[in-house]
Amino acid sequence: MLNAPGVLPEHPVPSEACTLVFRGHQLLVDAGGTLAATPRPWLAGLRPLRTLDFSGPDGRPWAVIEVEREHEPPPGHEFRHLKSLLDTLPVGTRSLAARALELLEFDRSHRFCGQCGAPTALATRPALMRRCTNPDCGREHYPRVSPVVIVAVERGNEILLGRSPHFPPGLYSALAGFVDAGESAEQAVHREIHEETGLRIGKLRYFASQPWPFPHALMLGYQAEYEAGEIVCAPDEIEDARFFHVDTLPAVFPTRYAMANLLLRDFCLRHGRPWPPAG
Ligand SMILES: [Zn+2]
Repeated sequence: MLNAPGVLPEHPVPSEACTLVFRGHQLLVDAGGTLAATPRPWLAGLRPLRTLDFSGPDGRPWAVIEVEREHEPPPGHEFRHLKSLLDTLPVGTRSLAARALELLEFDRSHRFCGQCGAPTALATRPALMRRCTNPDCGREHYPRVSPVVIVAVERGNEILLGRSPHFPPGLYSALAGFVDAGESAEQAVHREIHEETGLRIGKLRYFASQPWPFPHALMLGYQAEYEAGEIVCAPDEIEDARFFHVDTLPAVFPTRYAMANLLLRDFCLRHGRPWPPAG
């Protein structure tokens, strides 16, 4: 099996590629929170749970290693949850780290073929995947991406924000939900807003997208115009939802990198308000 084209051994020795190291969702960084070259002697002593080689957006070779939960970082380094680093890592590094974490999750969760139950083997051509080792099946499994729509519904100088029961105190965010099978992103926007608040929305504008690797979401940001209806929150999903005036937004915002933050920022700037709001 190992000689088949594009098939890798399960745990190749870390190559000379630049290396990202994850412990669960925690990325190994230096004390300043920056991705630094990982010390080779430390890497050589690792017993990785898994190792994957992959290409960055510029084609540069990278490797990602997952280590056991009890692994201590090398001197001068620390493991920090990727969510806490998203605001500070440079865009290129953030994207690499998101890709690496999603690939680890994919590798971990696709050890067996979903079609016939046989073990799968890691392969890299035509793209990174796990291929079924049963010669009568051979099904190829690729990393999964789950689209999520997140929507800023605007009514003049007001914006609709809501909170789930599990949000930290005071935090409100744009409403979001997974795209269902057989559904377009735009249909998902209309459905989610109606299901969660009872409101009808009119014109939609696509805003931007971003990966959210916990574990494999792709956030699709939309801006929508309120059309009709009174807010009735969906029990169990939304604890509270309301229109906030641009001058009286909630005090706690989603993390700076998050799409909800970018939507709020755009809303404020279009209404001539500073971002983040003073006070
Ligand atoms: Zn199979």
